[in-house]
Amino acid sequence: MPRVYNFSAGPAMLPAEVIEKAASEMADYQGTGMSVMEMSHRSKEFVSIAEKAEADLRELLRVPENYKILFLQGGASSQFAMVPMNLLRGKTTADYINTGYWSKKAIAEARRFCEVNIAATSEDTNFTTIPPRDSWKLNPNAAYVHYTPNETIGGVEFHEVPDVGDVPLVADMSSTILSRPIDVSRFGLIYAGAQKNIGPAGLTIVIVREDLIGETIKNTPTMFDYATHAKANSMYNTPPTYSWYIAGLVFEWIKEKGGLEKMAEINRRKAEKLYNFIDSSDFYNNPVDPKCRSWMNIPFTLANPELDSKFLELAKEAGLVNLKGHRSVGGMRASIYNAMPEEGVDALINFMQEFEKNHT
Ligand SMILES: *Cc1c(COP(=O)(O)O)cnc(C)c1O
Repeated sequence: MPRVYNFSAGPAMLPAEVIEKAASEMADYQGTGMSVMEMSHRSKEFVSIAEKAEADLRELLRVPENYKILFLQGGASSQFAMVPMNLLRGKTTADYINTGYWSKKAIAEARRFCEVNIAATSEDTNFTTIPPRDSWKLNPNAAYVHYTPNETIGGVEFHEVPDVGDVPLVADMSSTILSRPIDVSRFGLIYAGAQKNIGPAGLTIVIVREDLIGETIKNTPTMFDYATHAKANSMYNTPPTYSWYIAGLVFEWIKEKGGLEKMAEINRRKAEKLYNFIDSSDFYNNPVDPKCRSWMNIPFTLANPELDSKFLELAKEAGLVNLKGHRSVGGMRASIYNAMPEEGVDALINFMQEFEKNHT
């Protein structure tokens, strides 16, 4: 069975080279006679896999020395709670920017712990824009400012890091991390579920400035305290070992491909191709303001929604799968993370052209 082009938003496709390498090492990892899945997380083999992965991620993102990288579980959704539990540090309020579905989830969870100031929202445009920075009403007493650099469902992305002064900036980078270089020093904390652009589900990456760790709210469970994991190099308890190993293979793959500058160049080109095609057609539409269109998740609708199921059926026959849009917005969505080859985007555009021709 040949591999398909998988446009799933997450878990998403992994690079073919990574799948092949993992397959070749599956039963016997480098002469150990066992799979990485069967290894003690305290064994010297696994510790070296873990340390190499962390070092490669640190190199790729140029993470400064005074930041910890944590390899956790619980998904980005757990971070919606862990962020306020750890970063309020005696304060009672935090600023949130509301740009769509995932922002709202983060906001709802933060409200369990503190007063949430919605400093800006694009709800009035149905989340097809990003509120301009000069319209934000930030609270100088906020413990932190939280935003979602890429809204995976709406397909809206910040193409610049907003300036929020000295208040720590917190970013849910689940669907954009590693898609381009970023200046980590601009952030207090970055978190991301792995299953979009890093590796398999089950692993959650947190990059946090050291001085923000260690002052949790009362009764914070041990496992929800960043200090627990920072002190133990993410081995306080059993980490998601296999996901960590695969993430390490993905980091190696990105390095071999030329790093994040190269990823950015390819990602921009892939996205522009698809948007240009959608904009050139009356048959397809993307509602997002061109200034903040996502490089990673491209939602689009058909002018005649009665053709949706036919589109999905024929796309699948052509080896283009998981194009159905999120249930909250309908239509289609093409998620084109790092692992989606440019040929996959070309194949999608060819298919869309052909489909349009045969249905107008
Ligand atoms: C997928 C996603 C989440 C949810 O991630 P889980 O790891 O499933 O909890 C949160 N935020 C964003 C931006 C996402 O894309």
